[in-house]
Amino acid sequence: MAEIELTELTILKALELLEKEKISSTELVELSLEQIKRYDPLVKAFLYVDEEGAKESAKRADELRKKGYPGKLLGIPLSIKDNICIEGLPTTCASKILQNFIAPYDATVIEKLKKEGAIFLGKTNLDEFAMGSSTENSGFFPTHNPWDLERVPGGSSGGSAVATACRMGLGSLGSDTGGSIRQPAAFCGVVGLKPTYGMVSRFGLVAFASSLDQIGPFGINVEDTALLLQIIAGHDERDSTSYPLEPPDYLKFIKENFNLSYKIGLPKEYFEGEIDPEITKALENLIKLLKKKHQIKEISLPHTEYAVATYYIIAPAEASSNLARYDGVKYGFRYREAKTLMEMYKKTRAYGFGKEVKRRIMLGTYALSAGYYDAFYLKASKVRTLIMQDFVKAFEEVDLILTPVTPTPPFKLGEKVFDPLQMYLSDIFTIPVNLAGLPGISIPIGLTQNHLPIGAQIIGSHFKDELVLNLAYQIERQLNLKMVPNLLKS
Ligand code: GLN
Repeated sequence: MAEIELTELTILKALELLEKEKISSTELVELSLEQIKRYDPLVKAFLYVDEEGAKESAKRADELRKKGYPGKLLGIPLSIKDNICIEGLPTTCASKILQNFIAPYDATVIEKLKKEGAIFLGKTNLDEFAMGSSTENSGFFPTHNPWDLERVPGGSSGGSAVATACRMGLGSLGSDTGGSIRQPAAFCGVVGLKPTYGMVSRFGLVAFASSLDQIGPFGINVEDTALLLQIIAGHDERDSTSYPLEPPDYLKFIKENFNLSYKIGLPKEYFEGEIDPEITKALENLIKLLKKKHQIKEISLPHTEYAVATYYIIAPAEASSNLARYDGVKYGFRYREAKTLMEMYKKTRAYGFGKEVKRRIMLGTYALSAGYYDAFYLKASKVRTLIMQDFVKAFEEVDLILTPVTPTPPFKLGEKVFDPLQMYLSDIFTIPVNLAGLPGISIPIGLTQNHLPIGAQIIGSHFKDELVLNLAYQIERQLNLKMVPNLLKS
């Protein structure tokens, strides 16, 4: 095998090496599996590693390459968040209620990746049913941040962010309902994109809050992220909320339009309040740099302050309805010692769900119940519209919006887990984007003095994912950071 420096590798570079026969996909998968063996006992990013399956797929990919199969990701190892179904593999959503559940079909995104020849190393850890911001709500174990093992990697797609940061595979898919791709990407120093709502099919994604959920990619850099989006995006008849739009060639777009300059809005509500000074400083430096080429303008999104409260009505309401299906009858865990049907339902859900999931189900059931629906759910839906209108108005003036991703750098494990409100507030800058259905990306822009990653968020107008990627690509090239966790250097 040629001398390959794994921390230098990206999907695009690996494809080049595969093309030139400098590496085989079998070797690439071997390298990824070695990386998992070495680092996963420390970071615990994976709930399931499909060693045999990945090796077999790699062998097949090598054969197909010899025959000239044109797959855009032929032989590239990826990891997948464990709330996205891959036929024949477990899909637990990090919940005891689905502990023994094997997915009987592929999610549309998986079908698409398979068609392009991607290889799946395994399923990554998350907060149970994607409810959380630290992976500490996983029903099995928390994931650790590779930049500092005592800190959280963010969540809910913490496992996917960590797998990507540790080069356990060359990219990953996660899901983002209120920040679950962007926040862990920021905490782990990788790129994470939440596409426009409707851009990517949700078929085969286990539903949390259907009007907010969106699958999206994690990449080591923006180009890889663009390529992954390219493959998973597009209309799907099996998801009625997927938009009938042919996605552009994102990779081509960001390269060909590298010189585009933009009007970039800075929403004042996102820069006031309690933000860690090191994050503010990193953003200020970035803004200075951007001013050389782009127009920067202060804007206002006046309903921002209501976003978290609105989200914590809408998301739990939808979750309480979506999670009603886990009743011990159709699939997953069942409490077998019950004497009556009612007891079986109750005990199955009492033992199967974790604390945060139960809290959400109770919040949601309350918000939807007769007599309270108008006061909570209906009101929240109206405020959601106001938040959306803020953005629509802003995008009449600017092309893109720049904000922090999180108010703080990665926090310590255990620091917020007993204070749900503090945990909820860690998504204060990402939640409005889901409520409005917009595309948003998180890209690394530096490190704190303690050597913890800092991210910036770029938000675009509906279906302008390519502009978001374009500006992210420009920033990445300008900053030229090498985001490799110390752990991998030791
Ligand atoms: N942290 C938010 C929550 O707990 C968002 C999670 C997500 O995007 N899946 O609901």
